[in-house]
Amino acid sequence: MSDYEVVCFDLDGTLVQGTVFIWNSLHDHFKTDAARRVLARQAFFEGRISYREWFEHDLELLDERGVTRQTMQAMFAEKIVPTNGAQTTLERLKEAGKKIAVLSGSLDLVLTTFFDESLFDVVFLNRIFFDETGRIAGGRHTPFDLDRKAHGIEEISRRLQIPLDRCAFVGDNDNDLSAAGIAGLPIAFRPKSDELRRLARVVIDEEDLTLILPHLGVRLADDLGEASGE
Ligand SMILES: [Mg+2]
Repeated sequence: MSDYEVVCFDLDGTLVQGTVFIWNSLHDHFKTDAARRVLARQAFFEGRISYREWFEHDLELLDERGVTRQTMQAMFAEKIVPTNGAQTTLERLKEAGKKIAVLSGSLDLVLTTFFDESLFDVVFLNRIFFDETGRIAGGRHTPFDLDRKAHGIEEISRRLQIPLDRCAFVGDNDNDLSAAGIAGLPIAFRPKSDELRRLARVVIDEEDLTLILPHLGVRLADDLGEASGE
């Protein structure tokens, strides 16, 4: 029996492949104003604007380029795929009675394009709203990105009433360090960050998310009996 009762997943690079950070992919693909994008990024990391202001600025830049729900989803269909084994992993965890959560600075539209959001017990993501024509009509930023991902895990633990040391976290990059640092079981999935690789108790280098299951006390299948010639 595994002690881990909830598994929190990062999204970009963890549940989906084809993007390291969806925001960068969106700006590159839709060729938003590069100079203003750099300035806003600097302003955020130098503490001159809030995460919310940075998020809203991103939406503004995308809207200026005429980006809609339809063109965003077309881009996702072209560039992004669910990680091998992701759907199976989520289903097996649920069947085994685990709770699952998403804790990411990515976008809700990425999650809902590839997965059924109702499968997740908690979803902490940036949300983008569209009007009836598909045009960007606003959004709601996540309070739990970057250094604040640690607070996100705490909030998931509190909401589900599962102690932190029974929360596993799966991530792939530097922006996951704060969450990995506090989770009971930090798992690095194809890590792009050496620091995350060092911090993690489990490192998966193959692109197969089902490889996390044994570390969570969950088997890939209940009955592995060989097919009997059928
Ligand atoms: Mg990631």
